[in-house]
Amino acid sequence: MNNLAKKFHEDAARMAADIQHRNTITTALGKYAEGRDKKIAEFQDWQGARQMASDIKQGVHTDLEKYLSQLTEKLTARGTHVHRAATGEDACRIILDILKQKNAKSMVKSKSMTSEEIHLNHALEKAGYRVVESDLGEFIVQLRDEPPYHIVFPAMHLTRYQISDLFHAKLGTAPTSNPEELTMIARKSLRREYCQADVGFTGANFAIADTGMISVTENEGNSRLSASLPKTMITLIGIEKVIPRMQDLALYLPMLATVGCAQTVTCYNTLYSGPRQPGECDGPEEYHVILLDNGRSEISQDPVYREVLKCMRCGSCINVCPVYKSIGGHTYNATYPGPIGSVLMPRLFDLQKFKHLSFACSLCCACRDACPVKINLPHLILKNREAASTQYPKFFERVAFKCASLLFNVPFFWKWGKRMGWIGQKFHPLIEGTAIDPARCWTATRKAPKLVWKSFKDLWKRHSK
Ligand code: SF4
Ligand code: SF4
Repeated sequence: MNNLAKKFHEDAARMAADIQHRNTITTALGKYAEGRDKKIAEFQDWQGARQMASDIKQGVHTDLEKYLSQLTEKLTARGTHVHRAATGEDACRIILDILKQKNAKSMVKSKSMTSEEIHLNHALEKAGYRVVESDLGEFIVQLRDEPPYHIVFPAMHLTRYQISDLFHAKLGTAPTSNPEELTMIARKSLRREYCQADVGFTGANFAIADTGMISVTENEGNSRLSASLPKTMITLIGIEKVIPRMQDLALYLPMLATVGCAQTVTCYNTLYSGPRQPGECDGPEEYHVILLDNGRSEISQDPVYREVLKCMRCGSCINVCPVYKSIGGHTYNATYPGPIGSVLMPRLFDLQKFKHLSFACSLCCACRDACPVKINLPHLILKNREAASTQYPKFFERVAFKCASLLFNVPFFWKWGKRMGWIGQKFHPLIEGTAIDPARCWTATRKAPKLVWKSFKDLWKRHSK
């Protein structure tokens, strides 16, 4: 077991026993689920919309280069500088070069999971630049010096009281539990940053090939400010986010808002087509778009895994996953947590390093049913497991599964196996205290079901007589 896997198991055991954490997450996701179901009901044909969204994306990924060329051509024609980055390091280098050319000292950022994927903040700070996150949730986790907890709700794990304490400690503001007042504190602090920043940075949700536009969907308006106040603007986007036509947004924008944050549409939906044109009153003087590959081309060549590129990063699969709800986002120690992360992290990075994530799944299939673009995540998780175990076979695991197969298939073994368990369970309290590592014992955080000597069938026979 590698160090990441070991830490994952330790943190998962600890978090699963943390009742306060579970209550915070269950409350937050309970409200989300209620709102999402209402918004889904507003669609005339939700299943038809899912199928269409899936088909469009699938079509793009079988001919990705064609759409990327079209997008690049249109963006360049309006004066945008388009860069292709093969790896995360390349993307960081391109951004650092732009900052250097512009003699910049600071950058204001709107939310971008792709920038988390390439550890952009770390690279910029290491080079001496000041980076400020402007999304409220991201601003909070940046103050706490921790990564986002969730790909859509970065500070979901925190209560307003914790945020108040944080602002008091870091910004010197008076304690308050009023969410509006807390938002105003962040807003006041961020306004200064927008005005002082030399460069604005945004992520993006879609790149439209036929018009050459970048679509950003948000609720706070921070991305708009990041784009319109600084003189230079940079957008980083994964190459899989390209969609063929402008009209496709009519499907994707409401769908993303519905499953992402239980809204009909988000408050702000902006299209960026290039730098400020003559006669326009706002917008950046210079616009750079970085198209990030980082393993995506390789995935698009794989007929099985290609479907994961349809992902819109809506977070819907995460919100329904019982494992995520139990262990929380930080336990995954990965840019993308939950079901999508369990598939993507081993594919984008290293199968060996992240293979443990594919085993953190009960195969309940809730994520597959929640995904708006119909990605069969449990199937891909199983494929990851298969790939991991072909490369690294475990003899004892195979023996254990053979024994389990005998136990469940042969009635004699099942009957007597269960009875042996009944006897063994009597000694359990003795074993429990002396287990090698009690924290990792299955019953450390839950009650084991009581086994019985007589089965329902035995009792039925007796009573029938
Ligand atoms: S199938 Fe696995 S990853 Fe998907 S929701 Fe269920 S437990 Fe989570
Ligand atoms: S896999 Fe599907 S549900 Fe999960 S984030 Fe991506 S689009 Fe959303």
